[in-house]
Amino acid sequence: MKDFPISKFKEVAMAGRSNAGKSSLINVWANEKIAKVSQAPGKTRLLNFFNMNNSYIIVDMPGYGYASRGGEELKTWRKMVENYLSQREQLAGLVLVMDMARDWESDEEILAQYMMKNDLPVIVALTKADKFSKNDIAKAVERIKKQSRIDDVFAISSQTRYGCEEFEEFVFRSWIKKVPAK
Ligand code: GDP
Repeated sequence: MKDFPISKFKEVAMAGRSNAGKSSLINVWANEKIAKVSQAPGKTRLLNFFNMNNSYIIVDMPGYGYASRGGEELKTWRKMVENYLSQREQLAGLVLVMDMARDWESDEEILAQYMMKNDLPVIVALTKADKFSKNDIAKAVERIKKQSRIDDVFAISSQTRYGCEEFEEFVFRSWIKKVPAK
């Protein structure tokens, strides 16, 4: 853990296949809120930590899609990700970013299972909603809920900002500022 930045803020991890729309979503989400963009040194250079207005941190996990990779690259990536996901105390949850046109596949399942094993929540952000009709968006959300068995699936568009506010509010309310149990 000495490779990861020292901080007191909660962290929201973001993973998605390349081209899923993860960077675009982070940009919209961060907006002017980003105070600092830092890259962890050494072994963990693949994780990017974005400080969100001194309130929480978004951790961008690039290079995802590991069921389809092999050899040393897979080993290094997997070790880093597993280290981070299993040992990072302030990790609040994982956002799996997926292109709305795609199905839930083994890469997504591996990460989701891994989080559940560590008792950490996973939500899904389905991107590029602007390309679909309202009806098709609703269908995609239902399809992914069924395939993933995850209840919290959000449709968003970084281009039109469709669904972005609701998604951000959900993360903030359920992971960052938890309401104490009555
Ligand atoms: P990443 O590889 O997951 O970080 O994906 P990017 O954010 O770089 O986006 C990949 C491609 O999808 C780019 O060409 C983006 O312009 C496009 N894209 C991302 N978000 C949206 C969206 O909400 N709507 C549409 N139509 N295209 C998007």
